[in-house]
Amino acid sequence: MQHLESYLQGRWQRGQGDATPIHDANTGAVLADACSRGLDLGAALSHARDVGGPALRALTFAERGAILMTLSRAIRDIRDELLDLEADNMGSTRGDAKFDVDGASGTLAFYAQLGSQLGDRRTLVDGEEVRLSRSARWVGQHVLVPRRGAAIHINAFNFPAWNMAEKLAAALLAGVPVLTKPATATAVAAERVVRAFVDTGALPDGALSLLCGSVGDLLDHVGPQDAIVFTGSGDTGRKVKGHPAVLRHNVPVNVEADSLNAAVVGPDIGPGDATWDMAVTEIVRELGQKAGQKCTAIRRILVPAEREDDLRAALLDRFTVMQVGDPRVHETTVGALSTPQQKTDVEAGVAAMAAAGLELAWQFEGDVPSSGSYVAPRLFRSAAGADAPYVHEHEVFGPVATLLPYSGDADEAAGIVARGGGSLVSSVFSDDADWAGGLLLELAAWNGRLYWGSAKVADGATGHGAVMPGTVHGGPGKAGGGEELGGERGLRFYLQRCAIQGDAGLLRRLLG
Ligand code: NAP
Repeated sequence: MQHLESYLQGRWQRGQGDATPIHDANTGAVLADACSRGLDLGAALSHARDVGGPALRALTFAERGAILMTLSRAIRDIRDELLDLEADNMGSTRGDAKFDVDGASGTLAFYAQLGSQLGDRRTLVDGEEVRLSRSARWVGQHVLVPRRGAAIHINAFNFPAWNMAEKLAAALLAGVPVLTKPATATAVAAERVVRAFVDTGALPDGALSLLCGSVGDLLDHVGPQDAIVFTGSGDTGRKVKGHPAVLRHNVPVNVEADSLNAAVVGPDIGPGDATWDMAVTEIVRELGQKAGQKCTAIRRILVPAEREDDLRAALLDRFTVMQVGDPRVHETTVGALSTPQQKTDVEAGVAAMAAAGLELAWQFEGDVPSSGSYVAPRLFRSAAGADAPYVHEHEVFGPVATLLPYSGDADEAAGIVARGGGSLVSSVFSDDADWAGGLLLELAAWNGRLYWGSAKVADGATGHGAVMPGTVHGGPGKAGGGEELGGERGLRFYLQRCAIQGDAGLLRRLLG
């Protein structure tokens, strides 16, 4: 059995005492453990701030970008090993694991490229000079400088490689050292990735730390220049935001949490249309990929009432090829849930949906292995239309979605999506530019990202659930209120904006 280690203060170390077991999602067997008890997390943060921070700030954006490119290649070099680890630890099919692992290396490469574009600078200016008085010499210029603390990244169980890489890419490029903490239950791949990163020798001492095991007293040690980025449940996100030391020092906290994402099928499309096929493809993919354990997965499917039977028939037709089972078997399309706890939570959520009066529109009828963390994918429908109980409040984090018939009216659709209280992403499938355009601008206030499926992009779009590093990831309200990625925007969280007022000539000399 593997004992996962943490990488703190530039060395691999392990906590003392009872370790948390980490399971094989397919069999339930224990395959590793992790323990953080007794680790000096205050010293680890100090090392990051005092050693890693200055080293990173001494580098230009281009030099930091070159490090990210080395890290991206390091992941690619152990890709097959990571895919196997995720199959065992998380029940991920090869396709699901690729989504995580390739997403990680791709996002690092994207930010490496951005570093190269930002070039030989260490400081970013924000906007134009602002004239502040009658004198043309007296101006203000906003600058963005790296925070002098550490970036603390607390990640969710479902994307051990990507979730870690997308966060650290932006922080390291900004010039801020990272302490990353994967979810314990799926930390096996994350630990392997950090070992590969360390082995490259490209990272300055203190630039990256890894904490395997529970968060312990980490947050007691945060200071006023630190920044926290969290992905996981809304409940834990609120605990992080409300931690006394976080509140005392006004530490910025970026949260990505539960999200009731929606897909809206427009009234103008139907069977035979390219846009209709696109909607069907996205809904099917979002239900099965990573066994529905994606923060971006479609949970609520809004369909014009007169098209509901057509859509259900189209989905059922596509579901016939679904195979639930061992992710290492080529024919398997839906693997296991990542943890026994996930299985318990999903089964409880499904029972609550049925108890709330939602009708089962489809359930996977093939064999579902009884060992490990497998569940049968399901599609529910709401006979009460948009007034569906439960589905606007609770995210069942598995292969489960609900059909919500609506009238086809854009205002009604906007209102239904908004009842989710804020989402990471919603899709609109329509070729009616006026209808869809009005709806999208209404939905924009409730979503971090919108995905407009139309015939014009049926072949070239990237997928509802795919988070692209060039556009932002995050969402208002229930989705956590956070924002990550979005190219250079992703760096801003780690940078302090300061308005420097002074002589225009002197400022130009300072800032180039
Ligand atoms: P979680 O229980 O909130 O855990 C997330 C992370 O927080 C883990 O690394 C966990 O560490 C850590 N953590 C636990 N207690 C903490 C505390 N008191 N202070 C600081 N950190 C703490 O979430 P999860 O089990 O990974 O996922 C549960 C739910 O989150 C899912 O069912 C889903 O609804 C949601 N989720 C949302 C997203 C998204 O991007 N929006 C992504 C994934 C999951 P340990 O693992 O060591 O406990």
